[in-house]
Amino acid sequence: VHPPVTVLHAFRDAARRAPDRTAIAYFDGRLSYREADELSDALAGHLAERGFAHGDRLAVVLQNVPQFVLALLGAWKAGGTVVPVNPMYKDREVAHVLADAEVAALVCADRAWEAYLRDTAVGSPVRIALTTSDFDLQTRNDERVLRGGRLPAPEGTEDLLTVARRGAPAPEDRELGPDDIALISYTSGTSGTPKGAMNTHANIAYNAERQRTGLGLPEGSTYFALAPLFHITGMVCELSACVVGTGTLALAHRFEAGVVLDAFAEHRPAYTVGPSTAFMALAAHPACTPGHFASFRMISSGGAPLPPALVEKFRAGFGPYIRNGYGLTECTAPCASVPPEKEAPVDPVSGTLSVGVPGPDTVVRIVDDQGRDLPFGEYGEIAVRGPMVVPGYWRLPEASAATLPDGELRTGDIGFMDADGWLYVVDRKKDMINASGFKVWPREVEDVLYGHPAVREAAVVGVPDEYRGETVKAYVSLRPGASVAPAELSAYCAERLAAYKYPREVVVLPELPKTTSGKILRRELRSRT
Ligand code: ATP
Repeated sequence: VHPPVTVLHAFRDAARRAPDRTAIAYFDGRLSYREADELSDALAGHLAERGFAHGDRLAVVLQNVPQFVLALLGAWKAGGTVVPVNPMYKDREVAHVLADAEVAALVCADRAWEAYLRDTAVGSPVRIALTTSDFDLQTRNDERVLRGGRLPAPEGTEDLLTVARRGAPAPEDRELGPDDIALISYTSGTSGTPKGAMNTHANIAYNAERQRTGLGLPEGSTYFALAPLFHITGMVCELSACVVGTGTLALAHRFEAGVVLDAFAEHRPAYTVGPSTAFMALAAHPACTPGHFASFRMISSGGAPLPPALVEKFRAGFGPYIRNGYGLTECTAPCASVPPEKEAPVDPVSGTLSVGVPGPDTVVRIVDDQGRDLPFGEYGEIAVRGPMVVPGYWRLPEASAATLPDGELRTGDIGFMDADGWLYVVDRKKDMINASGFKVWPREVEDVLYGHPAVREAAVVGVPDEYRGETVKAYVSLRPGASVAPAELSAYCAERLAAYKYPREVVVLPELPKTTSGKILRRELRSRT
């Protein structure tokens, strides 16, 4: 793998080689590489004029809109670090991140800035707030954004595109190197308070290049951004792989199955990556046909467990083979994936689908609590070393030392490796259920539930139990039109799992709670019990 120095270098190179190629497609709108380059230059110039210095942080609180990409490139061109923030966060949560990262500039949608800044007790105040009001590109799936598109920028803020169109030249003295921090990515918070992982330019450039060469798609291919750009999977797999490969990035604001299916038909993408829950939602949509996937050369799923039953459905004619990949914010998206020419094996004992093999230059170990290697097939914590592993968390030396002893990432995930080097993720260490002293890994039970034809989504948690300490409880949502009695699902599992593993109680919900990056939130279900 020969990564570019930074993704920004790759982007500049792309803009020189293919200036008229579409860099970003957003519904009916298009931005060429030249336009994206010029607009982000001007934004960088503007930031510099306003005192944004090398190493300053710019927060972006946006869905998948073109301004996200412009803000990212503009901040890097101004020598800064980008802090992507989930726009579905509550104002207080956003304020926490803005304060923790001590941001100097903020890019967010109309009016949101007011609430974010009101709740922010930042020592050094946010100096620039750019909004995204005037953008010629429109979105069909959010009337508010569409209608709000012509509002003047609120007082104290400036409009991103107006600023960019003024055409200030980019500052020349801000060149970034591989060890500069490109992103502070707050972990998605599936299991607790978000921490800011510092992804360097070298981390991103490495994974972007590996992604590009691994996919082997022709230059100029269209990548559809199914995962949100504010999440590391979206950022690295979609944005940088497309930029490095001089492709087109198709955006559609945020995930909504019907809108995404229309966008597939319109943009004819060759590739997309998203959490497995997004593919489940697409496949369950009444309008979805195999034709929607006809343009795809490859699909990857990452960031959440991929049920073997879903892969089977696609393989059986619904769409292309879904390639599993494993990663974390702390290793800048994937560190293991299924090679393009292979299919992932399913472990015969647990029924778990492999997440793939570690990439080149990557060492994955399965370790015990003391960090000692465990033999093939044995369950232990997954530890990762490689060029995509972050140097640490932002301003958290203790957490950094604990999670990254000697630079090796302790993932907090339990897994095992088979004799052929295939890696399997069993579950998160902290989600283990202890039923009468027996370990139950929720994912194994969920995979069984996914095998039932009526089940759309499944999540298994441990609930306190007087006799067993903990007992297994399942929450499911059903496919459209399907109906099944909870007791039948419980019995279905009892036939297929050891007595201590099957869920004594099954609850059917219309929808399971998820993070906005698409992961089912077991934590929230656990707190209901
Ligand atoms: P937080 O760290 O705040 O709890 P999070 O763990 O969801 O949030 P991410 O970095 O977004 O943060 O997700 C990484 C986790 O997602 C991994 O540790 C692993 O548990 C899970 N994961 C990622 N890819 C896969 C996969 N292919 N199969 C199973 N689980 C996966």
